[in-house]
Amino acid sequence: EALDRIQALEPKLHSFLHVTAQQALEQASAVDAKIAAGEEIGILAGIPVGIKDNMCTKGIPTTCASQILKNFVPPYESTVTQKLLDSGAVMVGKTNLDEFAMGGSTENSAYHITANPWDLSRVPGGSSGGSAAAVAADECVVSIGSDTGGSIRQPASFCGVVGMKPTYGLVSRYGLVAFASSLDQIGPFGRSVEDSAILLSAIAGHDPKDSTSLKVPIPDYAAGLKPDLRARGRLRIGVIKETFGEGLDSVVEQTVTKAIDQLQSLGAEIHIISCPRFRYGVPSYYIIAPSEASANLARYDGVKYGYRAPDVDNLLSMYTRTRSTGFGEEVKRRIMIGTYALSAGYYDAYYLKAQKVRTLIKQDFEKAFEQVDVLACPTVPTTAFKAGEKNTDPLSMYLLDLMTIPANLAGLPGLSVPCGFDDNGLPIGLQLIGKVLREDQLFQVAYAYE
Ligand code: GLN
Repeated sequence: EALDRIQALEPKLHSFLHVTAQQALEQASAVDAKIAAGEEIGILAGIPVGIKDNMCTKGIPTTCASQILKNFVPPYESTVTQKLLDSGAVMVGKTNLDEFAMGGSTENSAYHITANPWDLSRVPGGSSGGSAAAVAADECVVSIGSDTGGSIRQPASFCGVVGMKPTYGLVSRYGLVAFASSLDQIGPFGRSVEDSAILLSAIAGHDPKDSTSLKVPIPDYAAGLKPDLRARGRLRIGVIKETFGEGLDSVVEQTVTKAIDQLQSLGAEIHIISCPRFRYGVPSYYIIAPSEASANLARYDGVKYGYRAPDVDNLLSMYTRTRSTGFGEEVKRRIMIGTYALSAGYYDAYYLKAQKVRTLIKQDFEKAFEQVDVLACPTVPTTAFKAGEKNTDPLSMYLLDLMTIPANLAGLPGLSVPCGFDDNGLPIGLQLIGKVLREDQLFQVAYAYE
């Protein structure tokens, strides 16, 4: 059914870069065979899943939506996709993204843009736009994305689905193509909180192949969900004052305010919290993330992976031509910004300073969490915009990440849950940010709200 749906909708949506129909049918038959033999089946047995195309899948192209990885077929499986296969999931395809996950609209894909299922003339958000659109349009039941500065939560908000970025280190990054390694986290998309919770339990857990992976027990997030917000006692929600104000769409403001009122009527205590350094998130992120990216992307040199420019007569021109033609505009912009920020003489002024600001933002959160259990704010200041509207103005695109970036800088879990629509019928997301490893609380609040 998922494959039929994909076939019917893809000509309009373009959520996928590759549909893996044959493998999906084989995986589904393997599940059937297990059932027939009376063998135990996994928690995701037979569930169609979409995978963002920056996760390595053995024998299946993994392009990161870049020309430079056009012909790359990984010889190994990422930990997350291996865990999905082990739990019986059926991968229906690799989803579209902004090239190397750099962007917020999926328009930076080197292959094609993805449409927002609610209005085909609009973007699905990004960078995990394909994964969000595929779930919203029912092309798969759940999907996997990655979030460096908002790339799961922002498209979840634009497409009206649930999306969660876990605590840094909860999900293994082994086999995730690195963008900014100190910020990247893999997480789930689902149409419901429960689906997302089930998926997170399946992919989380310690992995010796990722040195930043946390050694913690993984709860069954879905089993703990209760419809009553007060089921586990007092719950204090802090509304981040600084996220309401200039630049916030008035419908988004009204809708999110209503959602917070509803949380109060469900029994939560609402507090107004100040995170004064929140607004320095965007400027510090746009130094740190490109700096890390400039180092991570040095490996694409035409020798080890994917594309190599033809007709070159020496080594240097091979590097230069490969990288100049293989990378898109946004990726090159970031490599240049990052290289500049890390250069001798500029390091202290930019990179080091940005890292210090990162610490200050973390301290804001620590202070806030002395007073409340969960923080709430809009996920994005606007609803989905028209394709082509912002892609000539990178700065206006960067500013959209205002509310999602701080959780990445501090390594905290963040979730976006649909909370209403604007006057054009476009979805709006409520963001919940939790304490380290308190994904359970975020799911619980979102579940009671939903
Ligand atoms: N929009 C942000 C950026 O362009 C976030 C991307 C992400 O989380 N991968 O960097």
